[in-house]
Amino acid sequence: ETPEAEADEDRVENDCEDEDCVMHEKLKYTKEHRWSHYLEEIESALAKYEPCSQANCSCHKSVIEADLSLWVEDGVRRDMLDQLKDRGTTYQIIEHKLYREEKCMFPFRCKGVEHFILEIIDDLPNMEFILNTHDYPQTIRRLKPGPVFSFSKTGVHADVMYPAWSFWEGGPAISLYPTGIGRWDLHRDTIAKEAAKWPWEKKKPLGFFRGSRTTGERDALVLHSRSHPDAVDAQYTKNQAWRSLKDTLGVEPASEVKFEDHCHYKYLYNFRGVAASFRLKHLFLCKSLVFHVGEEWKEFFYPALKPWVHYIPIATDFGNAWELLDFVKENDEVVRQIAERGHEFVWHHLRMEDVTCYWKTLLLEYAKLLKFRTRRNPSFAEVKR
Ligand code: UDP
Repeated sequence: ETPEAEADEDRVENDCEDEDCVMHEKLKYTKEHRWSHYLEEIESALAKYEPCSQANCSCHKSVIEADLSLWVEDGVRRDMLDQLKDRGTTYQIIEHKLYREEKCMFPFRCKGVEHFILEIIDDLPNMEFILNTHDYPQTIRRLKPGPVFSFSKTGVHADVMYPAWSFWEGGPAISLYPTGIGRWDLHRDTIAKEAAKWPWEKKKPLGFFRGSRTTGERDALVLHSRSHPDAVDAQYTKNQAWRSLKDTLGVEPASEVKFEDHCHYKYLYNFRGVAASFRLKHLFLCKSLVFHVGEEWKEFFYPALKPWVHYIPIATDFGNAWELLDFVKENDEVVRQIAERGHEFVWHHLRMEDVTCYWKTLLLEYAKLLKFRTRRNPSFAEVKR
């Protein structure tokens, strides 16, 4: 027994007049000791946390600075972009018109991006940039490459993060969203409505995950769910790459579950996929607690979300994941507040106007770094609304 625990026991004996009270208080202190390290994590994260202002997408601005910092000193030369042109689709902005080379690997993804750029085209100076529409980033920081825009990356990559196409269109097509998940503005409304019908007290106290096996990092949770169905409901669905039961860890694929139906559960898990998963932002809208697994893969808005303030982090080895499930169940109010803060953040700082604002700030800052005059490439076609 630690000296701290002994001191607590003395306190219990002194404060209580009967056996029941002593038992009750002792239990309380033991529990508090069991969870004190997590409670301290929360306390210290909150003490350090500085809420940001809603104006001018300021919560996310440091990401733009960090991503562009590689070129702040020497700028971006024409030859840097020429060397990287196979890594994505080249766009030009000239006299407030948007032009694009013909090639776009995923036309709906290009359209999802163009939607935002066309909204702000009148405010943008001439420029040229390369936009990667693959999930995976394209450049390594250590090699000091030129800039390529990607939706997601890790600290190893030099790619400049842009708000994913799927805020508008071109997201993964699953049976529930056959034209791709997309339309964040509409999801915000539908998920918020369902969340209102499922307040915290009504939600099922279960961990929940539904998605395909884009990485094996999800296996531990799915297997745990099979052995502990009373604690977790985590099942693999089919994706387009599904070939056999092996791709759903030996069982039939589960039916897909709509984002809004995730709101019926208290604890929602997020994992990376090939890169960051589009799932994360939707989970916060449920006002459920988000367990975010791994911290390597980011989208532009991830750095503003803070562990223990807005979500509970889980390491990819799942070392303490089951203990954390006990923690959330036994610390309901503290955990409800994390869920509330996560929701607040995404609701107020990840609106469509924040996405547009991010695009605008990013492109204005990027254009300042260009060391060459953008001359129109005659083979490019104008992109119109
Ligand atoms: N998705 C969903 N319901 C499901 C399965 C998937 O809403 O039952 C969504 C999921 O949240 C994600 C997208 O579809 O945004 C693709 O999910 P998947 O797990 O297949 O791949 P990920 O992109 O997460 O690696």
